Amino acid sequence: MPKKQKSAADRVVALAGNAPRRRANVRELARYAATSNCNMAVTGFAARVDFDQLLQGTAFAAPFGQSPFAFRRGNRFEELLRRDEHAPILALLKENLSYDTTNAKVANLREGQIRGKGGLAQRAAATGELVKQILAGSRTAPNLIDGAVFEREVGGVLAHFEADAVAARFAQPIHVGEIKSFPTIDGQADPDKLGAAVAQVSVYIVLLRALVERVGGNPEIVSAEALLITAKNTGLQPTLCVKPVGREVDRAARILDQAPTVDEVAASIPESAPSFSSVAAGEEAARLDALAKIADVVGTDYRPGCLASCGLSRFCRERAHHDGNPNRLGGQLVRLLPGIASLDRAGELSRGAPPSSDETAVAEQLVRAARLRDHLGLTRPLPVTTRGVGR
Ligand code: SF4
Repeated sequence: MPKKQKSAADRVVALAGNAPRRRANVRELARYAATSNCNMAVTGFAARVDFDQLLQGTAFAAPFGQSPFAFRRGNRFEELLRRDEHAPILALLKENLSYDTTNAKVANLREGQIRGKGGLAQRAAATGELVKQILAGSRTAPNLIDGAVFEREVGGVLAHFEADAVAARFAQPIHVGEIKSFPTIDGQADPDKLGAAVAQVSVYIVLLRALVERVGGNPEIVSAEALLITAKNTGLQPTLCVKPVGREVDRAARILDQAPTVDEVAASIPESAPSFSSVAAGEEAARLDALAKIADVVGTDYRPGCLASCGLSRFCRERAHHDGNPNRLGGQLVRLLPGIASLDRAGELSRGAPPSSDETAVAEQLVRAARLRDHLGLTRPLPVTTRGVGR
């Protein structure tokens, strides 16, 4: 009997196997948007594989996951802001945006939620109803929505995305706010943490605009200025800043609209590719070998930004190091070496190896730089790659 062809969805599910699965939330969607240049990340997202957990127990385990201290601090900060019917958030809105928060109504969709998929679908429906009330100017419409859930198709798959941010509306427009417990000292925050918060709030804005449009409103009513609520200095006193995120919102919208479908992802995976199950458990060497095989057939695109966005970053950094991939040293070096495949190749060209037509312009500069280095007596050679993962 001829072997039955698997559907695209079956193939993607089979690729995930028993590997740990990721949650569908706005944070994951923002991380997807940050790594959508990489086929491996796109494949993992389509298969819902949790890359943060995948390499646990190996030397390349993801450094993600907050320390218990940071986790407790985050929870305490959020509890504090939600105290007394979200009074501290309302106070920030009054103080910074001059909103009249007297008699403000707060809808907290987390309260009494049903766990699991049913609960998310119910909250998505409730979010839609509340947004409709806001657009209609209903007297019962909330001024603040906490715990919204959005339904959205990404890559042809309908999913629910839970937001840990809040949406506020006292007059036009609707603002989206993100709560983060990291410290803001003299108005400055850790750029990586700030970047991740901006990415999340931008995705929230995209999802909220799509919902507004779906229920018949003008998506532009959702502001492209985000409200970031962070901790002032090292304590837990909240502070609010208004941040324009228009560019990030446009980028996130484009990426989500262009996410490849499950069919496209399945078509890019050869039948022979090992499943992520074989990466999730077993001997460390065999696990890493299986992941290297998947990476070889699917393709990766390592950049330093991966360290903040993807659970496989240590593994991919090692492979990039092994390949002499200039990407591992940052965008500046990549821009200085256009058309050069590896640092080893840059070293060869600097020593006078004949360049290809793509390499000619950079090769001349590399030779000049090498001469200058010799002239100044700087003998340190260009970096040499070391043994890497799965090669
Ligand atoms: S760490 Fe690896 S898998 Fe993750 S986005 Fe970067 S290159 Fe892709």
